[in-house]
Amino acid sequence: MNRVLVTGGAGFLGSHLCAELIKSPDNHVTALDDLSTGRMENLFPLTASSRFTFMKWDVRKPFDQPVDQIYNAACPASPRAYQLSPTSTTKTCVMGMLNTLELAKKYSAKVLQFSTSEVYGNPLLHPQKEDYFGNVSPIGIRSCYDESKRCAESLCFDYAREFGVKVKIIRIFNTYGPRMDLADGRVISNFVTQALQNKPITIHGDGSQTRSFCYVDDMIQGILNMMNKTEDSFQGPVNLGNPEEITVLELARKIKEKTGSSSELVYLPLPGDDPVQRRPDISLAKEKLAWRPETSLEDGLDKTIRYFKRILSL
Ligand code: UDP
Repeated sequence: MNRVLVTGGAGFLGSHLCAELIKSPDNHVTALDDLSTGRMENLFPLTASSRFTFMKWDVRKPFDQPVDQIYNAACPASPRAYQLSPTSTTKTCVMGMLNTLELAKKYSAKVLQFSTSEVYGNPLLHPQKEDYFGNVSPIGIRSCYDESKRCAESLCFDYAREFGVKVKIIRIFNTYGPRMDLADGRVISNFVTQALQNKPITIHGDGSQTRSFCYVDDMIQGILNMMNKTEDSFQGPVNLGNPEEITVLELARKIKEKTGSSSELVYLPLPGDDPVQRRPDISLAKEKLAWRPETSLEDGLDKTIRYFKRILSL
């Protein structure tokens, strides 16, 4: 049996990952989550399986169980959630990473760290390649997330160099799809919810900032390829995301049209530290992981809108 641990297993990405992992009869999957932003209902289809275990646990506290592979996804990831208690966010990222690496060291397990495009901050290089060191404010309102994710990457490489721990790092760009929390404050959750309810669509700034959105199924496939289809010597970091770039204003118009909404577009002040542009260069992922996203923004949004409609009607 391949003993797999997913920290943050009840979150948006963590729960999709657990659902995919459990499909393999060789895996026993343990999901760890303190349920601060993760939700138990994300895991309901899995809890019936004898090869699935859930543990309510805060990764800031050490944990110990025999394990072969660890996906470290535990951390609030939407700006609204990670800015709620920035000091907790830093502790979760850094202490969670330390506890994960200690466990990997003890059981000679392989760790895949969920890092983020936020390590590039407000990037001056476009699109972003993995060898770009980024443009990150150490004191802004996003720093708790950006800097602690950078620190977590640094810890991975130090544990690899100092103790020989097998580590892999992926940098996840904006990802969306079913099971997103409607109230996470993210742009797609907000716009779709607002449009479906014919409420004003809230654009931050003039909406000229860009993002590149990856559909969740594509992201999960990339994550699995990184863990299972690359040599241990390939540590990354590797960007995972969809290079299809769009402005926030274009996104608002697209969602409004797709939902047939009568919402008006309203403009709110741009939050501090908000990156002007973001698009992954995924050449490395294509080469090393034989991976590229398959789902267009059009198709992914249709699926996501159908999910949000169902949830809102319940
Ligand atoms: N945004 C927006 N309206 C909203 C929520 C977000 O215009 O209701 C903007 C946000 O300021 C940012 C972009 O959409 O420029 C993406 O925001 P999100 O929180 O989804 O992720 P980020 O990439 O900023 O972490």
